[in-house]
Parts: sequence; C-alpha cells; structure tokens
Amino acid sequence: MKGDMRTYGRLIREALPYWKIALLAMLSMAATAAMEPMLPALMAPLIDESLIDKDPNALIQIPLLIVAVFVFKGISEYVASVSSQYVANRTVADIRSEVFAVQLDLPMTDHDAEEGGRLLSRITYDVAQVGEAVSTAWMVIIKDTLMILGLLGFLIYTSWQMSLALLVAAPVVSFVVKKASVKMRRSNQDLQTWTGRLTGLIEESLLAVKDIKIFGGHDNQQERFDDINKRLRHEQMRVIKIQSLNVPLVQILAAITIGIVILIGTQMSARDLLSPGEFVAYITAMGMIFDPVRRLTGVNATIQRGLAAAESIYEIFDQTLDNQRGHSRSHEALPKASLAIRDVTYSYPNAESPALDSVSFDVRPGESVALVGPSGSGKSSLIALIAGFLDPNDGQICINDEPLTQWPLAKRRRQLSLVGQQVNLFDASVADNIRFGWPDATDEEVREAARQAHALEFIEALPDGFNTQIGPFGNRLSGGQRQRIAIARAFIKDAPILLLDEPTSALDHKSREEVLKGLENLKANRTTLIISHQPESLLSIDRTIHLIGGKLSN
Ligand code: ADP
Repeated sequence: MKGDMRTYGRLIREALPYWKIALLAMLSMAATAAMEPMLPALMAPLIDESLIDKDPNALIQIPLLIVAVFVFKGISEYVASVSSQYVANRTVADIRSEVFAVQLDLPMTDHDAEEGGRLLSRITYDVAQVGEAVSTAWMVIIKDTLMILGLLGFLIYTSWQMSLALLVAAPVVSFVVKKASVKMRRSNQDLQTWTGRLTGLIEESLLAVKDIKIFGGHDNQQERFDDINKRLRHEQMRVIKIQSLNVPLVQILAAITIGIVILIGTQMSARDLLSPGEFVAYITAMGMIFDPVRRLTGVNATIQRGLAAAESIYEIFDQTLDNQRGHSRSHEALPKASLAIRDVTYSYPNAESPALDSVSFDVRPGESVALVGPSGSGKSSLIALIAGFLDPNDGQICINDEPLTQWPLAKRRRQLSLVGQQVNLFDASVADNIRFGWPDATDEEVREAARQAHALEFIEALPDGFNTQIGPFGNRLSGGQRQRIAIARAFIKDAPILLLDEPTSALDHKSREEVLKGLENLKANRTTLIISHQPESLLSIDRTIHLIGGKLSN
C-alpha cells in the first residue's frame, strides 16, 4: 500500500508540468457532474407545474431548460474528456521517452542479464498499461465521484426519509456484489489452472504419441484426460452459476430497495409531504446513480494493472545508470593516448573461472598491437572492459596513465572507436549513418571520411549517393560496405584509440581487401588494439600479444 502511494506520487509528479490543463479538466468534470442532478431536478416542476397545474410558462420554460442543461453538459463533457486525455497522453509519452533513454543508459551487464523481450515489453506493454490507468481511471474517479456526490446531495435534499432507506440498502447490495466477484475471481483462477492442466496433458500426449502407441498407453492417457475434462466442466458450470446468479440477485435486492423507497414515498405523498413531481425526480436521480457507481467499482482493476506496470517501469528508473548519463560528444578527444592494462581480472557472475586473470600490457601512443588468442580466451571481455561495458573486479585500465575509474564514462568513450565483426547501421541515409554520433559534421567532412574509408566509390554508385536510404539495419548494403561505413564513422569521430574486434572475419576475400585499406588509413597515428583468433595479422602491426584462457602467454 505504501509502495502504491509512492508510485501514485511519482505518476502525479510526471503530470505536474501539465497542471494547467489538468485543472481545466477537473473544473470541467466538476461542471459536468454539477449538471447531473439538474435533469431529475427539472422533473419535479415538469410534472407538478407543466402537467398537473398546467402552468403555460412552465410548459415552454422546462423543455428549453432541459435542452440548455444538455448543451452545457455536452460542452463541459467534451472539454473534460479532451483535456484529461491530453494530460494523460503527454504524461505517457514523457514516460515512454524516459524509459527509452534509460534503457539505452542501462549498463551492459543489465542488457545481458535481462531478456530482450522484457526490455521491449516495458516500452510497449507496460507503458500502455500505465497509459490506460492514467487516461481512463483518473477521469472516472474524479467525474463519477463528483456525480455520485451531486446525485446523493439531490436525493437527500429531496427527501431524507427515502434516502435513509437507500443508504441502508446500498451497503447490502455492494456486499453481495463484492462477495460474488471474489468468488468469481477464485473460480476463474481454478478454471485457468484446469485449462492449463488439460493443455499440458494434450501437449505431452501429442509429443509422446509414438510411445503411447508402442506401449499401448491409450487407456491410461484417456482416463487422465477424461478426469481433467470432467473437472474443467464442473469448474465451468460453477462459474456460470455464480455469473447467472449475480445479475438476478442484484436485481432482486435493487427491487426490494426500490420497493421500500417507493413505499416510503407513497406514504409521504399521501400525507402531502412529497409532490408527485418530487417523487418522480427522486426515482430518476436514484436510477442515474447506478452507472457511475458501476464504473467506479470497475476502474479498480485498471488502476491495479497500471500501478503494477508503473512499478516495473520505476524499477529500472531506480537502477544505477551507466555511470551517469552524458554523451561522449561533450568531451574533447585527446591528441595522443596510450592504453595501459594493469593486473586486470574479471569474472562473469556465476562463472567458475575468471574470463581474464591478472592481465597486464601497454600500448604506446600510435602503436598497433595485435591481441591473439583462441575462441573463449577472453578477447571480447577485454574489449568490453576497455569500453566500460564491464568493470574489472581487480586491477586498473589507464589512458595516458590516468586510471579510468576516475573519469566519467563519457570522457573515456570519447577516446575510443570500436569496429567490430558486426556493424549496426540504422535505417537512415548513408551520410547520416556516417555522421552518427556527430550530427554536425559537414557534408565535406562526411565525404572525406568516406574517401579515407575506401567507401567513396561504392557510395557514389548508389542511386542517391550519400542520400541513399540503406534500409533497416543497413540491409541494402553488403557486409563489406557496411564495414566501410563503420570505418568512415570512426574517421568522423577521430578518437585517439582504436579497438578492432576481428573486423574482417565475416567478409569474403574481395571485400576484405577494400576494408583493410580503409582500416590501414584509420589506424595510422592512432593507438590500435586489434583482436583476432588467427596469429597472422592482415593489418600492419608493431607487436603481438597472446592470450590463452584469460592469461597472457609469451
Ligand atoms: P573470446 O572473445 O576470446 O572468444 P570471451 O571474452 O568472449 O572470449 O570469453 C571469455 C570467457 O568468458 C569464456 O570462457 C566465455 O565462456 C566467458 N563468457 C563470455 N561472455 C560471458 C557472459 N556474458 N557470461 C558468462 N560468461 C561469459
């Protein structure tokens, strides 16, 4: 409950920037609710003055007033609906955008640990649930509560004696309805359990159909099936009985209440304490109160679902973000950088042995070092540690002898370019993919980067040149072309340290040649670490380091 209040508080804070529109929504809801008792209130003069006394003025005035009430109510209802949904939509769009931003900032360890589907469904499903709760629920709660209060006020004002009967009966009816719905929920859960068991048995039997045939297990399985089938039928009938009983039961209770109210009303009328018009007005208002009550009781489920979803969203908001947000663009690239790995040890959670065990080496400014080792020796883990996707359990990684733990992550990433086996491009133009991360790069700079990356020739041969849209994930380009765009991207970024993670391993011989030329250009004057599982390097290198089983070997 306390958690619920906190979640409510946070949701309300999200909506705070739109308080003016929210206020307008609430005022117009109040106006709509205030119009509600007007209709029954007009019934009294309609009957007493127009129909019984045949007052000529009332004959004209009352129909006009009825129209006026509906026009006013229509306008306020329209404003209430549009403005409240506006606030809800803006709030949900803000939350959605925040979730997206936070997802991208989550540490890589969280991305690896969470199922991809969960991250997606948080944006699509959870946010939608919150949306439904905040858009319909708050309108229903405020408007219908006000409506009920207005109508109740009118009922008590018209006849407190009749209202007394109503106030005694209402809790009885709501008790019965509540009991029935609890029973129903439980039966529905049972029904789901038995349906699940039936499906399970069918699945199991179909998978094992050969065994059943060979071993003659037909009768056995059939018996189990019929057993569950029978239980399912019983549960279904139970739900049907409760469901069918609920409506007449409530109706009978309502009829008894109405009967008592009418009885009191007619007694009062006989003693001239109530006019026929007032009597009709009373019954009308009483009938009008049921709808908002029903809506109000139904909205709870939506709110509960929304709160649960909001909690799951806030859960990731509260996780420590990727060493504070901030983008590499806000930092300067160093003109020269050395890279030092000092006694770095890293174990994956739950792993038996460390992926990297006391690894130390240096790469001097401008030097090209190949890091060679068989698959599983820890090469990718090392790259992840240097890039700050993972944090070492022990040891230090330094750039220019400064330990990176003392730097903001964004500053570290400004010094690094990464070209991996898989290049991820976006569904945008070639030029925008090259200036990805550097949107203010000029067309000239983009062109120059493409030239250096040996990509100019093929880009110019594309139908729209640099403006060609490359499709989702860049799927209109070949692997080698994608790789060269990634290299051009690194030229634009112009970081002093280059991490190459087997960038040519997925390419055929011909496209490899072009990519290698681009890479040679890129690594000139940069501090470069080239990862490879094959000892002979295709690129020019100064030194080779061997990694086996997470340890350096000579
Ligand atoms: P390489 O890049 O040289 O093939 P990795 O750095 O990918 O080697 O892997 C080093 C070791 O760490 C391997 O034993 C691998 O099984 C393990 N490993 C890699 N990634 C994970 C992970 N996300 N969770 C647990 N263990 C991992």
